[in-house]
Amino acid sequence: MTEFIYKNEATIRLSIFITAFVLLAIWEWFWPRRALTQNKFKRWFNNIALMVTGTLFVRVVLPMAAIGTAYFTEQNHLGFANHFDLPMWLKVVAVFVILDLAIYFQHAMFHVLPVFWRFHRVHHSDLDFDVTTGVRFHPVEILISMFIKIILIVTWGAPVLAVILFEIVLNYMSMFTHSNIRINKKVERVLRWFIVTSEMHRVHHSIQENETNSNFAFNISLWDRIFGTYRAEPEAGQLGMTIGMTQFREKKWQNYAGLLSTPFSTNVNGYAINYRDTVNARELAQAKELARQHEEKAMLAIELESYLQAIGQHALVSVADRNGTIVEVNDKFCKVSGYSRDELLGQNHRIINSGVHEKEFFEEMWSTITSGRKWHGELCNRARNGEFYWVDGAIVPVRGRNGEIERYVSVRVDITTRKKYELGIEKVNQSLTDANIQLEVLSRIDALTGVANRRHFDETLAGYMSTMSRTDVPLTLMLCDVDHFKNYNDLYGHQAGDICLENIAKTIESNFTRGGDIVARYGGEEFAVILPGVGKETAIMLAERMRASIESLKLEHDDSLVANEVTISVGVVSQQLDEQSSTADLIKKADEALYRAKEIGRNRVEFSS
Ligand code: GH3
Ligand code: MG
Ligand code: MG
Repeated sequence: MTEFIYKNEATIRLSIFITAFVLLAIWEWFWPRRALTQNKFKRWFNNIALMVTGTLFVRVVLPMAAIGTAYFTEQNHLGFANHFDLPMWLKVVAVFVILDLAIYFQHAMFHVLPVFWRFHRVHHSDLDFDVTTGVRFHPVEILISMFIKIILIVTWGAPVLAVILFEIVLNYMSMFTHSNIRINKKVERVLRWFIVTSEMHRVHHSIQENETNSNFAFNISLWDRIFGTYRAEPEAGQLGMTIGMTQFREKKWQNYAGLLSTPFSTNVNGYAINYRDTVNARELAQAKELARQHEEKAMLAIELESYLQAIGQHALVSVADRNGTIVEVNDKFCKVSGYSRDELLGQNHRIINSGVHEKEFFEEMWSTITSGRKWHGELCNRARNGEFYWVDGAIVPVRGRNGEIERYVSVRVDITTRKKYELGIEKVNQSLTDANIQLEVLSRIDALTGVANRRHFDETLAGYMSTMSRTDVPLTLMLCDVDHFKNYNDLYGHQAGDICLENIAKTIESNFTRGGDIVARYGGEEFAVILPGVGKETAIMLAERMRASIESLKLEHDDSLVANEVTISVGVVSQQLDEQSSTADLIKKADEALYRAKEIGRNRVEFSS
């Protein structure tokens, strides 16, 4: 029997192969699992051409091949199994299992070792996955596989029957596990516990590296589960997944020449059992992203730290909780406030309150920051030694995870020097204003007597003239002249004359306290009184009262020709103003009345009629 099988091996295998290929091709044709992306005819031609090349190549290099080796081993009673008298069926099963396990490891090694992966890439670079993918192997890979198989057959003493069975099954399974066939889902689920299915092996042809590095088994599917390389489904799903490799998607890698030259082109990057991870790709990507964010945050923290250092050189920084309790201060804050860190932490911010600002100032500040807005302003604080210091600062509310304000960060710059300067300027400005006001007052007041001066009299009279000219309110003007005052000076001296004038001015002024009344020094010893809203009768009465008040002062005047004391003569004019009225006219009338009073005998009042 062995003899027969051995002699007809090529015919048996070829006929089984062709039958299986045709059956799977028909199945794919009528019930395809996925739509193909490449031109089927070209792909099939290239894949099959590669297979034929590989088969011929191995026949030439290793003419004995696996079955030849098994025959030789059996004939010469070589190998482990031939030393035991075991039943044939057990030998066959044992060899089958051992060979299958061996090619599981061999397959894994083809992914691990860069030089093996170079050749194995030809199988993975197929952009579609169907029955011809199962025969698409580089001739060198087939040769290496055969070489390993021969060693195994010799060492184990594999019977010809077992080897030929294995070869046929392997050949068939390679086509089956790569086929694009639609298969009943429930059947497939059960089946994949025992043998590798196309659904299971397709995952291995995913473009995603960690999926490629799964499901290495050829026949018995259990190996992947045992050795932890099993993966049930591709991440993108059986229909959504991409077949092939990232590096070999161009057309030139898919033709016959491209397939043969693939092992010798480009670097062997991404052969990637190195990349294999127990987590899936998405988790891996998330972890990478997290790591990147961490790094970014760390960089940010370093950057922030340097910002803080720079700010710390210049600014006072403090952090308070939502009650205003200090939870952090920088060195500059301690230095300027004069408190130590320990003295400040846990204290309320009020510790540095100067009392300079009103209650409303702080109320406004708190309502701003508690509503989540930034506050900015100038603030006077009190240092530990009681001295005031001014700061220009901003307080920024910081929200916690739950969105509530947790902290208030305050950054301030010491502006005490500037403030002192500003306050100094302010003081100077204030005294200048005061001086100006005084000057203004002085320019309107007669220096000797303290009543309004001539300038003020002129302005006031002109003002009344223009505002009252269109009303029927009367205006009174009185001109007073001291009687025989030249004599007074001559007798008592000029200084006594001045004092006398002061007394007269005060007394005249005391007669007119109503708002709007003006008493002015009109000239040397002449005074003028303007009384808006006063008519003739009242005017005469008031003028008489004024004259009498001077007389009753009883200022001694021995050289007066009319009395023993100082007296005055008064000229009064009182009239309603109109467009034609002029100040000159009014003064002239009062002056004429005064002249008359002098003429008639002095110490009397005369009214201009
Ligand atoms: P009459 O009754 O006619 O007015 O006689 P009188 O001597 O007062 O004559 P008049 O009004 O012309 O004289 C003004 C005098 O008032 C001249 C001057 O000596 C004196 N006099 C004017 N201004 C001042 C002053 O500021 N101080 C002093 N002490 N005397 C003044
Ligand atoms: Mg006079
Ligand atoms: Mg006089």
